[in-house]
This record gives sequence, C-alpha cells and structure tokens, in this order.
Amino acid sequence: MNNYLSVLKQITHEKYQQLIQKENVNQNAVLASISLVQNEQDIILCSLGTGSKAVGLNHMNEQNHCLHSCHAEVIAKRGFQLWLYEIFSNPDEIDRYFEKQEKKYQLKKEYKVCFYVTQPPCGQAQLFPESQIYGLSAARPFSEFQKETENIPNCDPKRLRSTPANSKTPIQQKNPSFCCTDKLMIWNVVGIQGALLNKYINPIYIDNLIIEFREKFSLKQVFDVRKRSGKSKNDVLKINNKSISKSFRIQKPKLIYTKKNLFPYSPYHPKNDELNKRINRDINQQSLQSFSYLYVNSFGTEKINSINGLKWGITKKDIQKLQFLPKITKYHLFQKFKELYGSLESKHLQCNYRDAKNSNIKYLCLKMNIKKCFQEWSLDKTQFEQFQL
Ligand SMILES: [Zn+2]
Repeated sequence: MNNYLSVLKQITHEKYQQLIQKENVNQNAVLASISLVQNEQDIILCSLGTGSKAVGLNHMNEQNHCLHSCHAEVIAKRGFQLWLYEIFSNPDEIDRYFEKQEKKYQLKKEYKVCFYVTQPPCGQAQLFPESQIYGLSAARPFSEFQKETENIPNCDPKRLRSTPANSKTPIQQKNPSFCCTDKLMIWNVVGIQGALLNKYINPIYIDNLIIEFREKFSLKQVFDVRKRSGKSKNDVLKINNKSISKSFRIQKPKLIYTKKNLFPYSPYHPKNDELNKRINRDINQQSLQSFSYLYVNSFGTEKINSINGLKWGITKKDIQKLQFLPKITKYHLFQKFKELYGSLESKHLQCNYRDAKNSNIKYLCLKMNIKKCFQEWSLDKTQFEQFQL
C-alpha cells in the first residue's frame, strides 16, 4: 500500500472515531469515504458515510423526500456531491480544484479520487461459493444471499441487483434501490458527480477503489460493466455508432485491498482463533445499527435515521417538515443545484427535479445504454422525482 493510502485509511478511521466519541456504538460499522489526494501527498477527506441499512418501501412516498439508501457508500457519494456544491459556492475554492475546459469544469490532474470502504460493497462483490469463505472478509455464501433475494437467480452477474433486505422484511416492502456493487459499476461510467452537476462539471471518476478485504479473490470483474454484461465498449459509450460524449469513458479504478482496521480496543486480534466467529457476529450486529453518519468537509456532520431516511431524533409531528430532511437527500441537493444554476446562469430554474436531471441528455443516453446491457433494470423512481421546489 502506497504511503498516502495508509494515511488515508488512518484519516478515515480517525474521523469515524471522532464522530462516535460520545456514543456507545459498534466500532466496526461499515464506513466509506471519498478523498482527493493532491500530488500523491496531501489528502483532503471530502466525505464520509457509515451504515448498512436501506429504508423500507413503506417509508418511501412522494411527500416525504427521505433518503432511500443509508448504505455507507451511498452516503459518502452523496456527501461528495454536497462537498462539490460547497466548493462551487466559493470562486477561490473552484480554482483550487478545477480548471475550465471548454464549457465545463474539469478536476485538476494533480488530484486523485480515492474511494475507501471497509468491506466489499453489497451485491455481486459479496458473493462467493461457500467453500471459499474463510478469514478476514465480509464475503457471504450464495445460499444466505439467495434467502434475501428469493426470486433472483443465483449469482447471475448479467443481472442488476437491488439492496439486500433483512430476512424479516416482507418482499413487498423491499427497497428497490440498486446494491452498492452495481452503483459503483454505474459510477465507473457516469462518474460520481451526478446528472445535475454534470451540467457544469466533467465526469469525476474514482481512481483508487480501496477495500478492506483479503486479497484471495479479485473483485475487478464485478465493477466493470463490460465484464459483467459481456457487451462491448461501443455498446456502452456509443449510440448509432456515434460517441455520446468524449468526456465519458469506462473507468477501471485501481483496486487496492487492505487489511481490516484494528482499533486499540477492537475485539479482533490477529492471532485470535475465534476471529472468524467474531467477525461474523460483528457483521450481523452491523445490520442492527439503525443510524448512519454523514460527514462532509467544510459542512459538518449529520446523524441519519436509517429506518426512515430522515434526520436522527426527530419527533413524529416533524416528519413531514422539509428542514428535517438529511442534507444529502435529492430535495436538498436539488435546492443547492438551483442556487448554483441561479448564480451561473443569472436566471431561475423553473422545472421539477426529474426534468432538470433528464435535461442532461448525454447522461440520460449513457444510463439508457447501460440499462440495455443488462437483462433487467427494475429501478423506477419516477414517482419520487417529480417534485418542484
Ligand atoms: Zn450497500
């Protein structure tokens, strides 16, 4: 592991320790962070997320704009978008990180984007045959996964998956969002800045994907849309033999595996015979944790209730109030986008969220191409995206 990568790992874990300082919580919750590393040296921890729960369908409706997935990876990625909005509200900060290339801003070459996660992301990256599961990994057997996903055929990489559900969740209430492996695979084509910010920023791709995991298995294939679907680069990036946009590519992040982090008071010990049992027990405990943390550099922290996707600790009567939505919900990020649009275009954006997103035709085409590469694409969130501010 490069020098800066071990520092990055340390910074991520230290930030988490700071967040949970006064709380009696599981030390080993799933963490994900996004950092920029300048000239392979200086690390800026942009965002950090924790958690492994997704909101049940019964909590998702058009009126409450709750956060649908509270998995660490999703929180870190949306936190990164919030960080970008913070940067774009200050011209000096824009110049620090971006340069203008034709019409859009491009992240300067001296910055590498590092995505750190403390276990293989849910979905395909966690699937291994039973016989091969041992040691320090969050790998789970096919059979266990199958129980959760019931109607989905066993381990077919050509299918996209929704987030795994707790076995107690009735199938009708299961969250339809994509699992983190599939999200990462899609981000490797469209970038992590999102459709809205892509109006002003060229795609930002993950350069290093760092996973706490033993090196026994390669996870490379699962994050690559071509390997997963068997389709060609042209199927993904072209329409009628014409490139959708020169700025998009199929990114192959460098995959770096690192050992599980050991806290001074961690129940783990490298020589502990009970290690596997303890890790398995811990993984089960993770799924019991009903909150997530968000940290965004220059913005601060937020605690999110991962059962209902709203801020932690609000009372029933406040549930419908928009100021109690986490800052990384579509609602708040759209608000940020409208502010940015107003300042860059000197006029008001009138349309609803979905229309604003779909006005980025190139991004939309790219997503449609990815959709065509797979046998199914169950995600339809149209009803949750037609809100106006
Ligand atoms: Zn996940």
